[in-house]
Amino acid sequence: MKSLEQRRVQLLARQAELEARLHDIDAELDTPQSKDWDDSAIEREGDEVLEGMGHAGQVELTLIAAALARIDAGEYGVCGRCGEAIGQERLDLVPHTPLCRTCAA
Ligand SMILES: [Zn+2]
Repeated sequence: MKSLEQRRVQLLARQAELEARLHDIDAELDTPQSKDWDDSAIEREGDEVLEGMGHAGQVELTLIAAALARIDAGEYGVCGRCGEAIGQERLDLVPHTPLCRTCAA
């Protein structure tokens, strides 16, 4: 079983990684569009993919912040819906999850 401190370190590392990636995505989206129509259509498609990745990253960051708050509150690893303990293997896989396997399914 991992200690809460190890979980916190794991979550903070993931948070830093996501923030760096979102920063890159923002920089990429800010680059000027090509004037050539064909190229700009391709760029727009690429931007939509980037925006999708950015959105997924934002959602994960929100969940990570909530998980860190639960660690501070002493509620980490407890399912937010049924109140049962969340399995260690599940926390290893998805350390920011607020739900046990049963409730998430
Ligand atoms: Zn549950």
